[in-house]
Amino acid sequence: MFKLIDGKAHSQGIRQEISKGVEEYKKNFGKEIGLAVVLIGDNSASKVYVRNKIKACEEVGIKSYSYYLPAETSQNQAEELVNELVNDERINGILVQLPLPEHLNSEKILSLIPMSKDVDGFCAENMGSLCMNKECLVACTPNGVMKMLEREGIDPKGKKAVVVGRSNIVGKPMAMLLLNADATVTVCHSKTPDLKKQCLEADILVAAIGRAKFITADMVKEGAVVIDVGMDRDENGKLCGDVDFENVKEKCSYITPVPGGVGPMTITMLMYNTLEAAKRSV
Ligand code: NAP
Repeated sequence: MFKLIDGKAHSQGIRQEISKGVEEYKKNFGKEIGLAVVLIGDNSASKVYVRNKIKACEEVGIKSYSYYLPAETSQNQAEELVNELVNDERINGILVQLPLPEHLNSEKILSLIPMSKDVDGFCAENMGSLCMNKECLVACTPNGVMKMLEREGIDPKGKKAVVVGRSNIVGKPMAMLLLNADATVTVCHSKTPDLKKQCLEADILVAAIGRAKFITADMVKEGAVVIDVGMDRDENGKLCGDVDFENVKEKCSYITPVPGGVGPMTITMLMYNTLEAAKRSV
């Protein structure tokens, strides 16, 4: 019998803790915590993400500062704005919503954000610190997975973990977090031979691939914990994950659904990182 990991419930629980932390910070230091959200262009999915992030800020008591720039914004203008935010004492975290319009050099713009305000946890310094198991701001989605495991009482220590996917924002930091938590970690990708064999060894299997229902029941060990990071569309255009949930669930001890699993944790961890950034700045 499997247990469903309810990302919405965990997310709510963590948001309550964050709200308390924000309240305490305001009382102790007599100032607000600020998150700057920068949206350039009119990507409709990005607009929804930004709206949800601003809503989450309101919910936990973080002050959001929104900057909406047109698609024609020049590299110089984008860099100027980020530099202003870097030097703005009201701002504890800077979030530049990706993807940026194609003519902009995203890497250069993101590189202007110092590690102390990099609440996405994407910069080289935060990634490097994570690899060295030092204090840092950790990418929100994998950090959310770790929080869920912790809240479910699942300790990765001594377990065999397999992460399918090696992106800088999910797969790699996920693998590092599991390694830092004393799991033995294998990272798989599109060039991995015999992926099924690797997956079958996993006590904890994390799918971060971007392919609908790619992980099938024959790839999952009996009793495994299965975490589905994927946000894909099935053949009917319905939101689904990288895991063939209906067939895989019976083999699992724990499994995250899509929607309602990892997804709700990501924005919550952004709020968590913004509070952390504020606490570390005093
Ligand atoms: P990505 O940058 O496209 O990376 C996908 C990874 O999967 C790559 O490392 C790729 O290998 C690997 N892969 C692709 N096909 C494969 C195959 N046939 N066998 C084995 N590995 C394969 O994607 P991402 O940004 O990490 O996102 C992954 C998924 O998570 C997407 O569905 C995305 O929407 C979702 N996501 C969800 C959240 C959330 O909040 N829930 C946040 C971020 C992402 P190579 O490196 O060899 O190409």
